Amino acid sequence: MCGIIGYIGEKPAKDVIFEGLTRLEYRGYDSAGIAVLENERLLVRKDMGKLRDLQKNMVADFNSPSTQGIGHTRWATHGRPSAFNAHPHGDCHGSLMVAHNGIIENYMKLKERLLSQGHVFLSETDSEVLAHLIESYYQGVLEEAVRKALHDVEGAYGIAVIHKNHPDRLVCARKDCPLIVGAGSGENFIASDVPAIINHARNVVYLNNLESATIFREKISFFDFEGNPIEKKWHHLDWNPVAAEKGGFSHFMLKEIFEQPQVIRNTIGGRTSEEDGKIYLTELGLSGPDIFKTQRIVIIACGTAFYSGCVGKYLIEKLVRVPVDCDLASEFRYRNPLVDANTLVIAISQSGETADTLAAVKEAKSRGAKVLGIVNAKESSLTREVDGLVYIHAGPEGLYCDADSYHASCSFLGKD
Ligand code: GLU
Repeated sequence: MCGIIGYIGEKPAKDVIFEGLTRLEYRGYDSAGIAVLENERLLVRKDMGKLRDLQKNMVADFNSPSTQGIGHTRWATHGRPSAFNAHPHGDCHGSLMVAHNGIIENYMKLKERLLSQGHVFLSETDSEVLAHLIESYYQGVLEEAVRKALHDVEGAYGIAVIHKNHPDRLVCARKDCPLIVGAGSGENFIASDVPAIINHARNVVYLNNLESATIFREKISFFDFEGNPIEKKWHHLDWNPVAAEKGGFSHFMLKEIFEQPQVIRNTIGGRTSEEDGKIYLTELGLSGPDIFKTQRIVIIACGTAFYSGCVGKYLIEKLVRVPVDCDLASEFRYRNPLVDANTLVIAISQSGETADTLAAVKEAKSRGAKVLGIVNAKESSLTREVDGLVYIHAGPEGLYCDADSYHASCSFLGKD
């Protein structure tokens, strides 16, 4: 999950894009980047960290008057959070830049093909293949190159593309990741979600799966993936910015409940193969012998993660026929637990920073057990303690909350 924004209009693009990114930060916040088109050159600023720390580099010290650009705030799925892995990603010649939300499941295969054709990659992400694929198909018509590239891709994506030969447009497309197009006055937008643009554009189109759009300053055209023009329905949004953050739902919890199908798709995306019916857990890091000598599994976690562990116990016992205990990490760490080298301990933590779970993992390891972590936050403490990992890819915890939305939630709860 991450946030994308694209802008073409009359204002300095970097300012509009940065503002939009701050409103999308709840979708991802380990790194961010902006690319603008100025005098047939693409200028890029990207770095690791939270947006407020990147403000100087990306906006204050970035003197570009460009009125056309794309931006991205990332929640890493492939490749650690770093400046190189931050989006947008470019092709070999700096001709185009792509911001991508989602997971390209067949990126390894595509990357091998592109490498053998001589493409040079700068990042560890799945997303960079999109830039090189579009480059490989580009023959003067950007929309066609994007379409051809997306025909090669398996996975989920919302993308925004900018090309130095096309200073009049942005191109975007989606499959299984949200993307909207917004129309302002003399300016138009692409965004992952309404809050990014609600201050500038109130008329929006929700792209459906396998639809694309070309965004000019004065008009927007919509296409299917064969390149046929399509008609789209415009929606006028009278939400205020706080309501926009909740996506039209009356509160955040309801919004998160409705996001669950997408989160589950993200979790299994790229790890299940329709071709051979197998599951690929590339970060697992445990060898066959580690797994096969397991005589008992102990799941340790706290809070909600503990309850998901209890569901895991039923599933694992049913499918694997190995006894599973589910333990509160805070109890486990203080009670001389029965684990040894034939025990596989599974530690679950969204943040990877749960103190009791971390301590319980150390306790288990000191007794010779192998530990598998199920974690959402990349590069968190737990990911460094465990022997193997499965990332959940559920997106960031909690929401970007400003004073207004805090106040609105308080009134919602009947408090002052
Ligand atoms: N899969 C991409 C990456 O890891 C995009 C992740 C996102 O949606 O933020 O860079």
